[in-house]
Amino acid sequence: MRLFYAALALETNTFIALPTSYRAFVEKTYFPPGQYPDKCQHMTGAMDAVRRRARAGEFELIEGSCYAAQPGGPASRAAYERMREEILGQLKAALPVDGVVLNLHGAMVAYGYDDAEGDILEHVRALVGPTCVIGIELDPHCHLTRKRCALADIIVLFKEYPHTDFAERGEETVDLVLRTIRAEIKPVKSVYDCRLIAFFPTSPQPMRGLVDRIMALEGKDRVLSVSIAHCFPYGDVAETGARILVITDNAKPHGDKLAEEIGRDLIAIREQAAPDYFDVDGAIDAALAHAGGPVVIADTTDNAGGGAPSDNTTFLHRLIARGVQGAAVAPIWDPIAVRLAFDAGEGAKLPFRFGGKVGKSSNMPVDAEVEIIRCVPNAHQTFAGAIVPLGDVASIRMGGVEAVLISTRAQAMGTDLFSNFGIDPTQRKILVVKSTQHFYAAFSKIAAQTLYAEGDGALPRDVRKLPWSKVERPIWPLDTHTEPRLII
Ligand SMILES: [Zn+2]
Repeated sequence: MRLFYAALALETNTFIALPTSYRAFVEKTYFPPGQYPDKCQHMTGAMDAVRRRARAGEFELIEGSCYAAQPGGPASRAAYERMREEILGQLKAALPVDGVVLNLHGAMVAYGYDDAEGDILEHVRALVGPTCVIGIELDPHCHLTRKRCALADIIVLFKEYPHTDFAERGEETVDLVLRTIRAEIKPVKSVYDCRLIAFFPTSPQPMRGLVDRIMALEGKDRVLSVSIAHCFPYGDVAETGARILVITDNAKPHGDKLAEEIGRDLIAIREQAAPDYFDVDGAIDAALAHAGGPVVIADTTDNAGGGAPSDNTTFLHRLIARGVQGAAVAPIWDPIAVRLAFDAGEGAKLPFRFGGKVGKSSNMPVDAEVEIIRCVPNAHQTFAGAIVPLGDVASIRMGGVEAVLISTRAQAMGTDLFSNFGIDPTQRKILVVKSTQHFYAAFSKIAAQTLYAEGDGALPRDVRKLPWSKVERPIWPLDTHTEPRLII
């Protein structure tokens, strides 16, 4: 048996003018065949499983390239086609193969390609033929298009948000592909379209209960896999929206019934699943009123994980203006400011301008007398054991407020985003983290309290504020009346 593996991932915010170049992929994650490190990452979650099972002698593994960029605007056409052709060339050279396993994000848009993953699958299917088994692992913030469902035999989404289960879902993807190749199972899909755009963090109720329930369904009554596509709320393509995917072992009527039941349950919690949001000063007030610390405030509208620049300065301006002591903000994406900090050196005190550069949603730069705390070349943070590169990083202090400036755009994920740069997060009163939900996995372990804030960054929590043009209507909350239905 021969199996091909590759990865190509970008979560595309179609509303933002932050184009994603080939260089943006190379800076974040690029590994040519065979050069992938031993530990799999968020966007390459099936790598461990394919390597381990290949070593155990189950099949011969042919590795292709792995590419993943930080979420941002659409990929350039040239970048997308270059990466696609590189991977297709590797696959062509590997033929014949019995199976193909791909890690794709699921919300990738390139200029000229609204359904990039559908396009990749179309090319892969054309090369490998109709009997080869294709399995893909996707992020739940994906567009689960009809085209992808028709072209891939196995589709498994992460269940957790924060996405801490990328390796487990990768294991399942590979396992189902191998069982299909061996003709032990005959996977059949049922897809229910919930006709809604919303946010579904899985740590709190009611979403926690729904995820636990779908996990309990798997492995019995011929249910092979159940996935909830949360939708990506900042991607305007025809098939944006939450969908339920149930894969059964040739038991379509049962799969249809389950997909519809789970879909109805998701619709029922669409308004309660997201947390309550404070405004910026309201969040600072609530944090100061808390007797202990640290109080962690999520600056959700400037989350690089949703494609935002991560250089909005509103929290910094308010913390400084209010004279708050013991506050730290991270990460601020500003490679020019990092360069200036490195030029000044650790311990230097100087007038300094940073943040507020990329667009209107960034607010104005901060001008302050700062002390350079730490300058770390080629730095990183961690997420669920995986390394997340940050490029060169400088931490700075102005009065009672500190900030971590990064060169490679990323959202806040690990508490080492502070501790690696001379700021002990457990000893601060307020930590403002630029993230919607991924921060929660690590920061909930040190937080006295966690608050979610809606600032004025690029990702409004109310998606009705965005200029939608391509999404199929009606869809909630853009429309009041919708027609949820089984589509596959
Ligand atoms: Zn996601």
